[in-house]
Amino acid sequence: MSYSIHPIADFHTHTLFSPHAYSTVTENAAAAAKCGMLAVACTDHAEATPDTGHHWHFTNMKILPPIIEGVRVLRGMEANVIDFTGRIDASPKLRQQMELVIASMHAGTTPQGSVEEVTQAWIAVAADPDIDIIGHSGTPRYAFDYETVIPLFGQCGKVVEINEGSFRVRRDSYENCKRIAQLCKQHGVRIAVNSDAHFHMHVGQFQESIQMLEEIGFPPELVVNNSRETLEAFFNEKGLAW
Ligand SMILES: [Zn+2]
Ligand SMILES: [Zn+2]
Repeated sequence: MSYSIHPIADFHTHTLFSPHAYSTVTENAAAAAKCGMLAVACTDHAEATPDTGHHWHFTNMKILPPIIEGVRVLRGMEANVIDFTGRIDASPKLRQQMELVIASMHAGTTPQGSVEEVTQAWIAVAADPDIDIIGHSGTPRYAFDYETVIPLFGQCGKVVEINEGSFRVRRDSYENCKRIAQLCKQHGVRIAVNSDAHFHMHVGQFQESIQMLEEIGFPPELVVNNSRETLEAFFNEKGLAW
């Protein structure tokens, strides 16, 4: 079966720096190469995540070569949205040293709030210039006013993530993710299809996301990591070199 959506980069992966993940940067890069990815982002958890390490991990990522195992490795971070004003657990200075910043909400780092509170938090994040990608926003625990916020993400140049890991470990996210994808389609908001791999064998694996996107006829040109053209346009926009 041939799909019009077949991502060639994975912008959300974890390494041993987040101890609840189990692979190295090199193992992730090798796994990405094996499944034909051109780029992989190393996006470990920022400091509010209870088991993550010291922020020197992020500042010292500059020593990593841009290409590992033949794949462009982006120096990234998965930051936490830690309150309903949209505060992020990494300083602007630290975020600006990263090539890619995802902002996500997680149990344990983001308080549980009402739909209105979560909506306010995402509206604030939409206006934050240091955030590139909105991570796994379909989590039912953090439901928000999708009709208001998803178009706003698009207007503010954010990329909305469709997260394969959600379909494995946050199974109850599926319907929300589908709704979010439908709204992205409707409003022309760009998405990225990411694995959120916590083990290298999951890097570049997006089967359930692809199936869902195909089901709703999602336009491939809105997927930033789907083709050389969309990927290069995204790199240019972010000032990233190969
Ligand atoms: Zn996450
Ligand atoms: Zn993650």
